[in-house]
Amino acid sequence: MALQYLPNVSTLTFAEDKCVCCGRCAEVCPHGVFRIVDGKALLVDKDACMECGACALNCPAQALAVQAGVGCAAAIIWGWLTGNEPSCDCDNGSACC
Ligand code: SF4
Ligand code: SF4
Repeated sequence: MALQYLPNVSTLTFAEDKCVCCGRCAEVCPHGVFRIVDGKALLVDKDACMECGACALNCPAQALAVQAGVGCAAAIIWGWLTGNEPSCDCDNGSACC
């Protein structure tokens, strides 16, 4: 079964004006969120981002930011997998998503 992602919930941001087109983000991203086309980095599939943080950690230009390992997307996916109510701990630990 393919893992589903929710549209428009990833915290990933890409500041194109800071990008030096080194290609590291495309190399380290496990989900093909970035692609290098004609020497330029493109954010091609933001909704595939699982917020692992690898791209932001490896970007030498601080062009990328992501709240790694937290957020409602992860909570909802974990809820699907476990059959429990999702909780992202943003409301004192109660179910809130
Ligand atoms: S946070 Fe992880 S999954 Fe998301 S774009 Fe960066 S490397 Fe890819
Ligand atoms: S790692 Fe950073 S500087 Fe390098 S291509 Fe990606 S966004 Fe641009």
